[in-house]
Amino acid sequence: MPATPAWPPKSLSRLFVRQSLSDGASVELDAGQANYLGNVLRLGVGAELLAFDGASGEWVARIADAGKKRMTLQVERRTREPETIPDVWLAFAPVKRAQTDWLVEKATELGAARLIPVMTQRTNTERVKLERLEAIAIEAAEQCGRTLLPAIDEPVRLDQFLRASDTARTLYFADEGGGAAPAQSFAPGPAVILVGPEGGFTDEERDAIRAAPASTAISLGPRILRAETAALAALAAYMALAGDWR
Ligand code: SAM
Repeated sequence: MPATPAWPPKSLSRLFVRQSLSDGASVELDAGQANYLGNVLRLGVGAELLAFDGASGEWVARIADAGKKRMTLQVERRTREPETIPDVWLAFAPVKRAQTDWLVEKATELGAARLIPVMTQRTNTERVKLERLEAIAIEAAEQCGRTLLPAIDEPVRLDQFLRASDTARTLYFADEGGGAAPAQSFAPGPAVILVGPEGGFTDEERDAIRAAPASTAISLGPRILRAETAALAALAAYMALAGDWR
């Protein structure tokens, strides 16, 4: 699966739209998007931009009509087919809000296909605002050139997450207590990387994870990483060894 470099960045702005895009389609933007394009980027009627809908690739669109709180785009032509991204999911125990936001932004840039908040015994965060995380993922996708958004799941308890795991998807468990080196473990194919909370997994949880189908404990080196660092380091290592950086 060859990488599709998104660099150098195109000078055109990129915008995610909820409406399905196709040749000649007319797209009504919401007030927030109209305000952003018109008042922040100062784009007016006739300006071109790149639009994507998370399914059909990327399109050139032109501003056909603009008002104070509304804007209409006319889709002109497709510039890219949807990219293929590695089938790797990131399951993480939510941490503080700013760090979780950062994790979602960076995991989107790195190409995670799905993000799964997993509640563990030592997870301190009670609430995860999915809408907020989706907005962060959209902004990251607009910036980094993705045409597909990561799926973001409702939070799930660790025991439910493990019950749903199966042998068809390798579960790479970042274990600060020790495990195999990523270079010896990561292999192409459906994968999910699981990273614990700031306080780590309990012994009971660690035993349950190790007993789950297709579970492999991996080490991320001799230093204890913060939870969000560990999640992104593991994802980057996966992309380099088994994903689309090869
Ligand atoms: N409180 C734990 C301790 O002191 O041992 C540290 C937990 S660490 C901050 C949060 C999570 O990041 C861990 O549960 C693990 O999944 C992952 N992690 C951090 N450093 C790691 C390493 N060197 N190898 C593997 N996983 C690591």
